Amino acid sequence: MFFAIIVAAGRGERVNSLIPKQYLPLLGKPILAHTLDIFEKSPWIGEIIVVINPLHEEIFKKEVWEKYGYRKIKKYVSGGETRQDSVYCGVRELKDKSADFVLIHDGVRPLVDEKILERCVEGVTKFEAVCCALPCADTIKRSLDGEIIDETLDRQKIWRAQTPQAFRISLIWEALEKAKEEGFQGTDDSSLVERMGKSVHLVLGSEDNLKITTPQDLILAEGLLRWRKK
Ligand code: C5P
Repeated sequence: MFFAIIVAAGRGERVNSLIPKQYLPLLGKPILAHTLDIFEKSPWIGEIIVVINPLHEEIFKKEVWEKYGYRKIKKYVSGGETRQDSVYCGVRELKDKSADFVLIHDGVRPLVDEKILERCVEGVTKFEAVCCALPCADTIKRSLDGEIIDETLDRQKIWRAQTPQAFRISLIWEALEKAKEEGFQGTDDSSLVERMGKSVHLVLGSEDNLKITTPQDLILAEGLLRWRKK
């Protein structure tokens, strides 16, 4: 069985709005609802857990859960201080289902699509841990002081990680517990598995699957959604 955890517990203040960014409307519907639609419709996904900020409980219930009547959301849980803490809270709900798999996805990536979910499902069944990512078109520089370039990295070896990232539940739970014990904070879920010396396989994401962070991203996402609906 494939579970989905959608993390949406961030304060979401970077888009300069009073409404937390995951609840901002995209063509009249909250960003988070667009994201949930994809998982709700996917034949692969059996159950969805949404991780929310307790401060947003009212808006989540009224404007998302009840309004769009998602049947696969069995429960929502409160998240934590960091994204990793929120993922921990979500996976904790599933840790007894350790033989199954989970796709972990950012609530603010509403342009994920069924093909990406399918690649994650196929990949995780085979490899136990996959990270959706894209090859890098830009040349990447490394600078220690932010002024002088120390190194130009070989961009053929650079991948931009996105979500979903998918794992056997027992594996990601072990990785989360270990990171917690050792005080390690990663910027994504794969890094926690990588640091245990386990292989994480790449699966192809998409250029559309952007993480809405800035006001410009919102404009871009609206344009892409309009284009999809044509
Ligand atoms: O902050 P960032 O853009 O990395 O957030 C990515 C996703 O993680 C967002 O959907 C956000 O709501 C979620 N998040 C969370 N708990 C936090 C911080 C972020 O669920 N404490």
